[in-house]
Amino acid sequence: MDFKDSTPEAAFRAKCRAWLEANAERKQRVDELYGRGLGQAEMVEASRAWQACKAHAGFGAITWDKALGGLGGTPMQEMIYREEEGQFLVPRNAFAVSLGMVIPALAAHGSDAQRARFVEPALYGRELWCQLLSEPDAGSDLGMVRTRAERCTDGRDGWLLKGQKVWTTYAQFADFGMVLARTDPDKPKFDGLTCFYVDMHAAGVEVRPIRQASGEAEFNEVFLNEVFVPDTQRIGEVCAGWKVTMTALMSERLSIGGVIPPGLWQRGLALMREAPGFDGAPAIEDGRMRERLAELYMNTQGLWLMQARALTALGRGEAPGPELSVAKIVGARTLQDFAYLAFDLKGQQSMVTSELLGDSWSNVEDLWFGAAGMRIAGGTDEIVKNSVGERVLGLPGEPRTDKGIPFRELS
Ligand SMILES: Cc1cc2nc3c(=O)[nH]c(=O)nc-3n(C[C@H](O)[C@H](O)[C@H](O)COP(=O)(O)OP(=O)(O)OC[C@H]3O[C@@H](n4cnc5c(N)ncnc54)[C@H](O)[C@@H]3O)c2cc1C
Repeated sequence: MDFKDSTPEAAFRAKCRAWLEANAERKQRVDELYGRGLGQAEMVEASRAWQACKAHAGFGAITWDKALGGLGGTPMQEMIYREEEGQFLVPRNAFAVSLGMVIPALAAHGSDAQRARFVEPALYGRELWCQLLSEPDAGSDLGMVRTRAERCTDGRDGWLLKGQKVWTTYAQFADFGMVLARTDPDKPKFDGLTCFYVDMHAAGVEVRPIRQASGEAEFNEVFLNEVFVPDTQRIGEVCAGWKVTMTALMSERLSIGGVIPPGLWQRGLALMREAPGFDGAPAIEDGRMRERLAELYMNTQGLWLMQARALTALGRGEAPGPELSVAKIVGARTLQDFAYLAFDLKGQQSMVTSELLGDSWSNVEDLWFGAAGMRIAGGTDEIVKNSVGERVLGLPGEPRTDKGIPFRELS
């Protein structure tokens, strides 16, 4: 395992750092957040502006091909940029779905006209996309998608979309959405699906934000009430929607990120030194608390080592092993455990919001609200464990009773 940058990597890091120093403000503390008090819509606007700024400097899509307007860089360079950017105050990224999932799938499977029309505006932050996959009865198993796309029978060359999607991140701010819909219910569940794109402001598209415990509405229900889409809005072949979706999902999994914010166990230690334990002595003197700190330390260090191993593989041009799947399961759980630890140490005070407890507490609140979602999005803990079991440990696959059966008969 190699912990040091190679000479070209060090040069790229220096270039990123110099550009960030010139264009963003460095964080004063590791847990400082951009734009305290900004509403969601304002944060999305700020994210559009930051994406434009990065794209003009060549950092907008580091691993994309140059032909698409990317830098043609390596995953290692992407990681280096993210590590450096993490030290600066920048808006929360609203483009993870657009640039990490949808546009790579559209670029791979869409028509030349679609590529020419959509790639650049997304890269420069002018157009935001959402991904309309999950439904009330189709999440982990997207083969159960029930949203229908039916051929128009009134002479128009197009389709009518009918159905409901759910958990659609940023649908309320998105300009376009990529929809997975069923075009042939007589085929087996993954074979009768087709992808389209839809203008989120088209007639019949109804977006209802879902208000979360945090007060924010990060995701939405989206109703598609007989939405007309011309055939030119089909992405890929008819009934090849699963192939398009897999490209989007694999791109998401490859867009690895620093799962664990830096300095997490040190923040646990600092909180423990301040907080009183049961008998008035600092919590750090309590054996049970020290055990929790030790666990936090082991998990964060373990994750850091796994990340270093994955990056070493990427740096050598090899595919990373199962580290990324394991890191997702352990990483999200560790963030949640840290938030619980911080809450326990603050005692009753932890019920008070960051407006009263100060900036550093808003980071704990964000983790507490967000970590549960991280254990679901991009594959739940159980689904990732299944995949580690089957693909890494070679355990027998889950029994499939629906293989080869027409979708119509399943439902
Ligand atoms: C923060 C966040 C953002 C999201 N953004 C989007 C988005 O932009 N677009 C979009 O389309 N979707 C989005 N989703 C939805 C996400 O993809 C689904 O929530 C996820 O795939 C799980 O599906 P589900 O919620 O329907 O749960 P289900 O699939 O119904 O699962 C329920 C429970 O059963 C377990 N389970 C299911 N199948 C198995 C199995 N075979 N073996 C063992 N256990 C199993 C699961 O682990 C889970 O605990 C988002 C979700 C979150 C949390």
